[in-house]
Amino acid sequence: MAQPYPPGARLLTRPDTAAPCPSCGGLVGRGYPTCLTCADRVDAYWLADWAAQLAITGAAEDELPALVLAAPTGEYPWTCTDWAMRQAPCVVCRGELGTGPGCAACAKADQARWAWDFAPEADMTPNEHALRLAVAALRGPARDNVATYWRLSLPYLLTGELPTPAQAGRIRIHLLAGRADDLAEADGFAGMAALTDLPWRA
Ligand SMILES: [Zn+2]
Ligand SMILES: [Zn+2]
Repeated sequence: MAQPYPPGARLLTRPDTAAPCPSCGGLVGRGYPTCLTCADRVDAYWLADWAAQLAITGAAEDELPALVLAAPTGEYPWTCTDWAMRQAPCVVCRGELGTGPGCAACAKADQARWAWDFAPEADMTPNEHALRLAVAALRGPARDNVATYWRLSLPYLLTGELPTPAQAGRIRIHLLAGRADDLAEADGFAGMAALTDLPWRA
């Protein structure tokens, strides 16, 4: 093994700003993963690391998922673990590994992947961790407000932004108040957190 905990999602440059998606009309990322353009733009960071590992290891495309999933945590970039989980169907529910609602095998695989992020040697920024969480949540079993939070956040996470804990808390309160549409119109994490309280609800 070359370098323990090789970083992920750093081979391609991130966008400077959150821009509308030409296909779905929302900010790029908000249509993930059903809008194919949003999915392409987001998955490009994962796919670049996967292509690099194919070149480094010399493994065949259909062999690499099993190699990555059998390897100790930190041997491959975290993006490659995520990508391998998408290529190797769950042996129990046959769905994408880590995404089966109520599937114990999926829950176990999903839990195992996060060991990477919390290893002391891991080379990962808080933004990269949030980006990984967002994508996993949007592919996984839907939990309304959690999925909506990550859907709203993904375009800004792609630009490298990260909400402060206070901003994230405010955004979640607005979501609980049913204001996803207002949040979708707001500009950035700061704009979403700063939505004014509705006077008729105060
Ligand atoms: Zn889109
Ligand atoms: Zn499963």
